[in-house]
Amino acid sequence: GAASKGGPTIFDKIISKQIPATIIYEDDTSLAFRDINPQAPVHFLVIPKHVDGLTQLSKSEPRHEQLLGHLLFIAGKVAKQEGLDQGFRVVINDGAQGCQSVYHLHLHIMGGRQLTWPPG
Ligand code: 5GP
Repeated sequence: GAASKGGPTIFDKIISKQIPATIIYEDDTSLAFRDINPQAPVHFLVIPKHVDGLTQLSKSEPRHEQLLGHLLFIAGKVAKQEGLDQGFRVVINDGAQGCQSVYHLHLHIMGGRQLTWPPG
């Protein structure tokens, strides 16, 4: 799918299995895989697959409300699967000032060590 700042991203190639990733959860609408540059002992991403006609998934579009909820639900489900019973963090980096580098919506889930707050 196209992202907010242009065309396909590396995540589209992960969805289509054109490039490998360590996939830890998959369903019709979402995919979870390990981050290639983990910032914690457990660090995975949950992304929408952009099926059902969506060309992008925006956090500000009402019609995406259900799928956005699903992504958060899957984040928690996979966190449990990954053994993050002591806690974890869910992050969305949005836009330039939010340090987004891949323009395909994704949730970061990090855990497995004591995290600190606030972030930089
Ligand atoms: P952002 O800064 O956009 O929130 O985070 C993008 C994340 O995607 C980064 O944590 C980065 O390590 C991860 N990432 C970028 N390219 C790849 C890739 O090809 N495979 C995987 N598994 N993760 C990637």
